[in-house]
Amino acid sequence: MATRIDGKVFAATVRDKVATHVVRLKSDHGITPGLAVVLVGEDPASAVYVRSKGKLTVEVGMNSMEHKLDTDTSQADLLALIDRLNTDPAVHGILVQLPLPDHLDEDLVINAIAPEKDVDGFHISNVGLLGTGQKSMVPCTPLGCLMLLRDHHGSLSGMNAVVVGRSNIVGKPMAQLLLGDSCTVTIAHSRTKDIEALCRNADILVAAVGRREMIKGDWIKPGATVIDVGINRIDAPEKGEGKTRLVGDVDFASASEVAGAITPVPGGVGPMTIACLLANTVTACCRANGVEEPVGLTA
Ligand code: NDP
Repeated sequence: MATRIDGKVFAATVRDKVATHVVRLKSDHGITPGLAVVLVGEDPASAVYVRSKGKLTVEVGMNSMEHKLDTDTSQADLLALIDRLNTDPAVHGILVQLPLPDHLDEDLVINAIAPEKDVDGFHISNVGLLGTGQKSMVPCTPLGCLMLLRDHHGSLSGMNAVVVGRSNIVGKPMAQLLLGDSCTVTIAHSRTKDIEALCRNADILVAAVGRREMIKGDWIKPGATVIDVGINRIDAPEKGEGKTRLVGDVDFASASEVAGAITPVPGGVGPMTIACLLANTVTACCRANGVEEPVGLTA
């Protein structure tokens, strides 16, 4: 049976590290890191994410600034807010909750954030810096996956890694990070031929697809490490009428018979994403103030 990689426990240790560093920033430098989160519209899932981000930001001792804007906010007004946050010295990290309403241009909005405050790591400058192996803000979900993998394996050098999914927020930056740690990386997507055979060659398999339980146990190399990024909500009549539960992109039951280690859903990658957002905010604050960065909180 595979070892269960507990993202919930590891995320708590990341948040503890962040909190320790926040205490030091306050006592030694008189600085409190601040994270501004911008939410446009009423999307219920986004509102839940923003609330939990705000709560955890405060729990680690940082300032949380929430900006809730109406659904019909104009692009000009949103850009004006980002401009103000970019120049506000109390704000070290800016996150614009995605998706944005259809009338707003996501790329334009993300690229308006000052790259050094772009704690989601989506700004085109940060994408370029990561791709060329330079110091950047690293997207939170892939950073969380990398931390789990490093913690489990120590060195990843020379391992065959397959990333299923090529999105800008998970698949592509994940592949860059694994390459940065000297894995031999293959990216699979919806047009990939014989994806099962490809996956069977992976020492590290990262699933970021958004298709419930697509990856089965017989796709997995015995002893491989499986990181399941997927979050899929499915009906759960066994819990009562109208109830739902979360499953990943990997069929956990069959995969854990074969894998050496595996992240569960929920309780795997999910908690790491917010922990890495807090880690990125403290890193951004240190860089902005010329203070030594905490060790182990970035790539
Ligand atoms: P996207 O929809 O942006 O990308 C999905 C990727 O999967 C695409 O590259 C697509 O290929 C590929 N794909 C789709 N179907 C197949 C298939 N049958 N075989 C192989 N590849 C396929 O999703 P995201 O990257 O944003 O998210 C992926 C999953 O991770 C989702 O479940 C999401 O909810 C979850 N997620 C979880 C987070 C966390 O904190 N745990 C954070 C972010 C996302 P193509 O490009 O060819 O269309």
